[in-house]
Amino acid sequence: MKLAESVSLDPYRLREDFPIFSQKMHGKPLVYLDNTASAQKPRTVIEAMDTMYREVYANVHRGIYELSERATQMYEDARRKVAHFIHARSRREIVFVRNTTEAINLVAYTWGLANLRPGDEVLITEMEHHSNIVPWQLICQRTGATLRWVPITEDGHLNMEALDSLLGEHTRIFAFTAMSNVLGTINPVAELVRRAHAVGALALVDGAQSVPHLPTDVQAWDADFVAFSSHKMLGPTGIGVLYAKRHLLEGMPPFMGGGEMIREVTMTHATWNEVPYKFEAGTPAFVEAVGLGAAVDYLSGLGMDRVHELEQALVDYAYERLHTVEGLRIIGPGPKERGGVLSFTLDDVHPHDVAAILDQEGIAVRAGHHCAQPIHDRYDLVATTRASFYIYNTREDVDRLTAALHRVAHLFRG
Ligand code: PLP
Repeated sequence: MKLAESVSLDPYRLREDFPIFSQKMHGKPLVYLDNTASAQKPRTVIEAMDTMYREVYANVHRGIYELSERATQMYEDARRKVAHFIHARSRREIVFVRNTTEAINLVAYTWGLANLRPGDEVLITEMEHHSNIVPWQLICQRTGATLRWVPITEDGHLNMEALDSLLGEHTRIFAFTAMSNVLGTINPVAELVRRAHAVGALALVDGAQSVPHLPTDVQAWDADFVAFSSHKMLGPTGIGVLYAKRHLLEGMPPFMGGGEMIREVTMTHATWNEVPYKFEAGTPAFVEAVGLGAAVDYLSGLGMDRVHELEQALVDYAYERLHTVEGLRIIGPGPKERGGVLSFTLDDVHPHDVAAILDQEGIAVRAGHHCAQPIHDRYDLVATTRASFYIYNTREDVDRLTAALHRVAHLFRG
C-alpha cells in the first residue's frame, strides 16, 4: 500500500480546495450541510471549465479543425474517466445527460415505452426520490403496466421479505435507489440486482446519492442501468450520466431527435448513430463534461473508500451529538448503516423555522420533503430538516450545528 492510501483524509486540508469557504455567511464562517441537494466545487473543477472556455472552446464532433478536435478529445476523455470511475466495461456505456432525473426519464421513455404492456409490473420502493417515481407513474399510465412498491421498515430499511413476494414473473424492471436522500439508508445493491435478475427483470439503480460518496462498481453490481448527477459529486450542474449495458442501449429506440444522434437523414426517414451518441441529441454540455472529468479526478485522487470512511466517522459523531438536543428525532437506520445524511424532526418546531434560524448562524441545511413525499407519508411527517455531509465537513461543523439546534429548542420552548 502506498503511504498516501494509508493516511485518512483531513477535511480541514480539503476545505482549502473549495473557494466558497473563504466567505462568511451572516458574518460567520459558512457551515454547508446541504450536500445531498448539491455539492460545492473544488478549484480544479472550476479551473478546468475556465481553461476550456478560454483556450479550447469549439463545438465537439463537428469541426475538422484543431480547436474542435481538441475539444472533442477532452469531451471523450471525460467519458473515459467516468467509465473508469464506475468500472464500466467501455466508454460506450456512458451516456451524458443533464442529471439523474433525465437519465431515469430516458430509460422510462425509451426502454419503458418500447417494452411495457398491460399486465407487466414496474417495481420501485417507498424510499425513492420523486425522480424515480414520477417517470414510472407516467409510463405506467401510458402503457397500462402496473406500478408496485416495496415497503420500508420502521427503522428505514427495505422490507426484504415483502420484496420477495413483489418480485415475480410479471416484473419487468426493478428501479431503486442505492442510497436514500432522506433516510441515508445504504441498500444492498448487488443483492437487489440479483433478485431482480432471478425473475427475469432488469435493474435500474438510482446512484444520485451513492456514486458521490461510496465506491461504485457497476460490473460487480451487474446493474443494467445506473443514473447519477455531476453536481452532487463536486462537478458542475447541467450534466449527469446514464450508465447502461451496451446491448441494452443498442436495443433501445432514441429518446430525443436532432443533430449528432443520427447516421443519415432523408426527407422520409432517419437512421441512428452508434451508442452512446444515439442518445445525445444536439450540442452536448461538453464544458460541463470536462468539469465532471476534473471532479472524477479529484475524487479518484482521494480514493472513494477513504471518502466513505471520512463521512462515516462524521455521521457517527453527528448522530451522537444531535441526540443531545431535547426533542430531536432522527429518522432512518443507525449510524453504521447509513451514509452522510441525517433527517430529523424537532418537537414543536417546524423544519422551515429550524432552517431559517440556522441560516442566521451561517449554517445551510434543507427543510421540506426533499422530493421524497412517500417516505414522509410513511413516517406520518410533512417535512423534516436534513443535514448532509461531504469531504469538507468537520467535527466543528457538527458542533456548531448541535449548539445552534440547542438554541432553537430553547427558543421555542421558552
Ligand atoms: N435521486 C436521488 C436519490 C436524489 O437524491 C436526487 C436529488 O436530490 C435525484 C435523484 C435527482 O437528482 P437531479 O435533481 O440531479 O436530477
